[in-house]
Amino acid sequence: MTVPWRATILTLFPDMFPGPLGISLAGKALASGLWTLEARDIRASATDKHRSVDDTPAGGGPGMVLRADVLAAAIDAADARSVPRLLMSPRGRPLTQSRVRELAEGAGVLFVCGRFEGVDQRVIEARQLEEVSIGDYVLSGGEIAAFALIDACVRLLPGVMGKAESGAEESFSDSLLEFPQYTRPQTFEGRPIPEILVSGDHAKVAAWRKAEAEALTRARRPDLWAVRQKTAKKTTDG
Ligand code: SAH
Repeated sequence: MTVPWRATILTLFPDMFPGPLGISLAGKALASGLWTLEARDIRASATDKHRSVDDTPAGGGPGMVLRADVLAAAIDAADARSVPRLLMSPRGRPLTQSRVRELAEGAGVLFVCGRFEGVDQRVIEARQLEEVSIGDYVLSGGEIAAFALIDACVRLLPGVMGKAESGAEESFSDSLLEFPQYTRPQTFEGRPIPEILVSGDHAKVAAWRKAEAEALTRARRPDLWAVRQKTAKKTTDG
């Protein structure tokens, strides 16, 4: 029996977990022990009598900042030395499917969820937190970002998805967006399924899907398309 993938979450709102991760694919995998989830309350590491976790920003300005000492104590108490420590942060490196793959192949992840205006810079440095962003927009807390990241990792764990290959062909593998999918009925509001897909010719289906994926990627994601062109060139250059 292999050791389950471990998600440890430091949050001011542990009751939010497992939330959406408790149902469907991730929930079944959680129930069957393919991964484990521990949501730890940052406030449990507060030391003053008001159990305060935040304070006003040095230098002034609106909002509150999570205290370095309280957060550091929460990180130390979580005993997650052997896994990457990620701080959910709009300033972080944007999350990619290849980073998700790396994280899913490891032993697990410690997630630090910020709130308010963010966290004291010194704890990021002292505990070597890797800042990760899920996109160029601002959430009110790191929990929803952690949900997204955990969900993306868990579906890649061995035994979670039905078919092993269902992860290999989807969007972002080979820097491509996925081709369009169809299912029954054969005709929907006058729109038939593209003929090639019902032809039974597997080679033609594969060629059609590749061409569609390439066209979509070129049109919607010139940034991804440029990456694909570069890797294709490297492969042909040897
Ligand atoms: N004042 C900060 C935003 C704080 S938002 C700034 O301008 O950078 C509060 C918390 O929500 C953050 O500490 C972070 O944990 C989380 N968060 C917000 N947007 C996020 C994003 N795009 N990706 C990951 N985490 C995010």
